[in-house]
Amino acid sequence: SGARVRRAQNRKLPQYLERGVDVKFEDVAGLGKIRLELEEIVKFFTHGEMYRRRGVKIPGGILLCGPPGVGKTLLAKAVAGEAGVNFFSISASQFVEIYVGVGASRVRALYQEARENAPSVVFIDELDAVGRERGLIKGSGGQERDATLNQLLVSLDGFEGRGEVITIASTNRPDILDPALVRPGRFDRKIFIPKPGLIGRIEILKVHARKKPMAEDVDYMAVASMTDGMVGAELANIVEVAAINMIRDGRTEITTDDLLQAAQMEERGMLDRKERSFETWKQVAINEAAMAVVAANFQDLKNVEFLTIAPRAGRELGYVRMKMDSVKFNDGFLTRQSLLDHITVQLAPRAADEIWFGEDQLSTIWAETADNARSAARTFVLGGLSDKHHGVSNSWVADRINDLDTEALKIVNMCYERAKEILNQNRKLMEALVDELVEKKSLTKQDFVRLVELYGCLKPLPPSI
Ligand code: ADP
Repeated sequence: SGARVRRAQNRKLPQYLERGVDVKFEDVAGLGKIRLELEEIVKFFTHGEMYRRRGVKIPGGILLCGPPGVGKTLLAKAVAGEAGVNFFSISASQFVEIYVGVGASRVRALYQEARENAPSVVFIDELDAVGRERGLIKGSGGQERDATLNQLLVSLDGFEGRGEVITIASTNRPDILDPALVRPGRFDRKIFIPKPGLIGRIEILKVHARKKPMAEDVDYMAVASMTDGMVGAELANIVEVAAINMIRDGRTEITTDDLLQAAQMEERGMLDRKERSFETWKQVAINEAAMAVVAANFQDLKNVEFLTIAPRAGRELGYVRMKMDSVKFNDGFLTRQSLLDHITVQLAPRAADEIWFGEDQLSTIWAETADNARSAARTFVLGGLSDKHHGVSNSWVADRINDLDTEALKIVNMCYERAKEILNQNRKLMEALVDELVEKKSLTKQDFVRLVELYGCLKPLPPSI
């Protein structure tokens, strides 16, 4: 009969169901208060009746917003895991198909499966791939995405208030989503998952260390403080790579050094064990130490986290990690003063080369950082940040490229003098840093601070402009 046929069809294996999802909130670290919001979503499943009886509308969709790798997928799984419900997932980029109708029919199938196996969580990764505001989509793919998006809207509406199927979607671009998607009853709840802070990073490292043979004295703080700006996915990877290091060396415990090495690798790629002459080591050490010493003078930059002259495959000669790196890349803008400070730091290698080797023996080791300084100086002038002080009115709208370059040059010269001044005041510190770098190849924040306290005179200069 018809009923039997339907039941047979239902027994067809669900395509979008992820089996064996066994994630709990304790597997997701560094959440802070966000956890409370997610616990509430779990309650929509476990105490759904209570909400319904009191006339509380259960949201149809929850939007997890945040950069890649912060644990959005993991969290969605943890909600399903804690609630003990099925987890269905699809990546929105799978919806975006060349053939008209395929995307829409996948959405339909996904929700049909989720409903037949309710209660369930439907997780849509990269929602912005399909949910972009309709006007924003150009070209022939647009029509197809419209059909898919419409189907998604219909599917979301089908569950309004029932709480048997809750959709969780992730996106890094909530701002470009089609307004229809975020209307009440659809994705009407947004939860922002930021990159983890220092404490968050410690917690995440520890979660991933749980099942690993860690040495008892592992200094998670040291690892966390040199991974500023990194997300959970990267931190998880660091623990994995550290474990591989340990096994490769035939040891039985993962040490702090394994983790620090792995963090370096995550950030800068494979260690390149090439040999260098003593002179080259020393020159690279001067280059990196100069940046660290100058940076240590400035408010936003003084957080020098790590210095190394160990070469990495295809990368810079050495490397100084500053807190500033993440400030810069996270928020994408600098204040006027920190931009000047940044330019000064980028000129430090050139200044050090002049101080330690003299005008006659200059190398080109500083070429790249000097380029950074020049382009930052142009940004400075172009942004109108130098106007007040140099009397060039409206230079940021000036179309005469010469004005721009003349102004930028002034900035570069001024910062260069400042870098030289700082380095001259800190010759002892420089020499101690260079010696220790050449010997050890890498210095931690603790090493750096110790030498600064011994030899440094790091009074911030009064801003010279
Ligand atoms: P997203 O969905 O935000 O891109 P994922 O959830 O896919 O990030 O994260 C990838 C992996 O990184 C996870 O499976 C987990 O191993 C690790 N991870 C990310 N964030 C965290 C976190 N907050 N706590 C623990 N592990 C995390």
